[in-house]
Amino acid sequence: MYICFKCRTEVPIENPNVILSCPKCSGRVFFKSRPKVVITHKAR
Ligand SMILES: [Zn+2]
Repeated sequence: MYICFKCRTEVPIENPNVILSCPKCSGRVFFKSRPKVVITHKAR
């Protein structure tokens, strides 16, 4: 989940490699929103 930097709309982005634009303000600046992320470093 990402949040638009301009209008703060939550935009679900599954693939961060794909540049999307905000559906509301068509902004392209997002920042990550991770409310429930537990950071784990697992070696494969
Ligand atoms: Zn926006």
